[in-house]
Amino acid sequence: MKPGIHPNYKITTVTCACGNQFESGSVKEKLRVEICSACHPFFTGKQKFIDAGGRVDKFKKKYNL
Ligand SMILES: [Zn+2]
Repeated sequence: MKPGIHPNYKITTVTCACGNQFESGSVKEKLRVEICSACHPFFTGKQKFIDAGGRVDKFKKKYNL
């Protein structure tokens, strides 16, 4: 691997709009995302992911996170 041509890939704390935080690899120090696995409609089965307080906690309890 030649030095200088690869970005400095590292573990970054990703903060979602729903308040969920998780770690992921990125070249950036911090990442903010609109949606994540805790609030994505695909995972929640809901069309809207706006967390009015507790929905994410329910999700976590449901899956023992
Ligand atoms: Zn989220």
